[in-house]
Amino acid sequence: MSEEINPHEIVNFLKPRLNARFRTWLNICARCGLCADTCHYYRAHGNDPKMIPAYKVRFLRELLRKKGRVDRDYLQKVYDTIYHECNMCRRCTLFCPFGIDIALMISLLRAMLFHLGIAPEGLVKAIDNYKKFGNQMAVTDEDWVDTVEWVEEEMAEEVVGLKVPIDKKGAKILYTVNAREPMFYPQDMMEVAKIFHVAGEDYTYSSKPGWDDTNLAMFCGDVSTSKLIVENTFKRAEELGVQQVAVTE
Ligand code: SF4
Ligand code: SF4
Repeated sequence: MSEEINPHEIVNFLKPRLNARFRTWLNICARCGLCADTCHYYRAHGNDPKMIPAYKVRFLRELLRKKGRVDRDYLQKVYDTIYHECNMCRRCTLFCPFGIDIALMISLLRAMLFHLGIAPEGLVKAIDNYKKFGNQMAVTDEDWVDTVEWVEEEMAEEVVGLKVPIDKKGAKILYTVNAREPMFYPQDMMEVAKIFHVAGEDYTYSSKPGWDDTNLAMFCGDVSTSKLIVENTFKRAEELGVQQVAVTE
């Protein structure tokens, strides 16, 4: 990464988003270090001070101070920190006496990098898949329905009378899965089918997008795709008239 980037893009992205809450957090951090021990990266790296949660968000302050005038090498440093030194677990927030939400600030930095076209390849691919197929694994609606039907066939041989409902209007629960299940782990869906059957639960799958409950777009701060994913599920829940959505992820 050596190519220069447009500082206005950084400032124009950050300024409206760095609202009073973020600015207050940046200003009131007492550098007390109480958050250090709560972070598994800090502990796993031999208490390396560079891994102290409050230190990881220094970039927000620096980017504003430098008015976005940074190069790609600097952004690479930001990338390495926010993707490889924090998984946004929010543990540090629970221990900070001021409740400073480090994870939310990391999320803002991820969103900024995503806006600049910098994000992990795997997440970018998954985001494309959500937009085109409504799920992270690019499973077509046809393949998804085939899988659900196949799960029912397989399980009905083992458990007499077992059904795997799909698009059942008025079911109590809309059951959603991680799209990796139909791709790699259909046995998980088979186990679930047995549990629901034995429990006598009234549930259904959806044949249309809204059945994948992962939201990988959230991890790189892609708010619009993240919203689309939630809306897909919400829309299907309304169309089917269910009372609850079971999110297993
Ligand atoms: S515990 Fe809170 S105030 Fe103390 S260094 Fe961490 S973020 Fe700052
Ligand atoms: S949110 Fe990030 S910095 Fe805070 S404890 Fe979790 S991994 Fe560490």
